[in-house]
Amino acid sequence: MICARCDQPILSDEGYDTVINHGGSGAKPTQYVHKRYCQAPPRQSYLSRRLGR
Ligand SMILES: [Zn+2]
Repeated sequence: MICARCDQPILSDEGYDTVINHGGSGAKPTQYVHKRYCQAPPRQSYLSRRLGR
């Protein structure tokens, strides 16, 4: 499965947390993130800055 936060594959020995995504119509209702702290890659924040106003 893919981590919704950093967009990296979550390995079975890393563990994950389940995130319920309430409000998204197109988004998957259940997403997974690394149990350890992970950050979104820099290009992600760059993209969201470009997409936002
Ligand atoms: Zn992650």
